[in-house]
Amino acid sequence: MSGTAVIVGASLSGLMTALALSRAGLTVTVLERSNDTGRTGAAIHVEDKLLERIVGSRLTTLGQEIPAGVQIWFTVHAGLREAAGADPSIRLYAHADVVSVDHDDDNAWAMTRAGDRFR
Ligand SMILES: Cc1cc2nc3c(=O)[nH]c(=O)nc-3n(C[C@H](O)[C@H](O)[C@H](O)COP(=O)(O)OP(=O)(O)OC[C@H]3O[C@@H](n4cnc5c(N)ncnc54)[C@H](O)[C@@H]3O)c2cc1C
Repeated sequence: MSGTAVIVGASLSGLMTALALSRAGLTVTVLERSNDTGRTGAAIHVEDKLLERIVGSRLTTLGQEIPAGVQIWFTVHAGLREAAGADPSIRLYAHADVVSVDHDDDNAWAMTRAGDRFR
């Protein structure tokens, strides 16, 4: 598979989707309206080898895996964020507040409050 994808939101869903699409061969842009730091949360259950199953063998080169079991939410987010940040097929933009999305027959795109268009 080839092509591009734009994902709005760099939290758990957005980052996992970005990693999965990158593994499938797409070039991915992730737009996050916050400054991407200081996330809050309590605990979340992580299955064994979560990241390895999402990003495949590339994860082992990072040398880090989110531990299985009940983990702090921020640990899970930080692990996904780091894996996405290390992936050359994923571009992460903070302070990118998406105000509209649209598509035509050939493309889909997202517009940010600053007036930038990503597709
Ligand atoms: C205070 C709090 C604590 C929680 N604690 C836990 C917990 O401990 N364990 C647990 O399992 N669940 C917890 N939850 C539930 C939480 O919703 C999920 O764990 C998880 O964060 C959901 O991930 P998500 O990626 O689907 O959505 P979210 O985490 O809500 O992520 C959405 C992302 O999209 C971004 N975004 C939204 N609109 C735009 C836009 N227009 N342009 C650009 N970016 C945008 C947001 O900034 C955000 O980063 C908690 C929720 C809250 C509010």
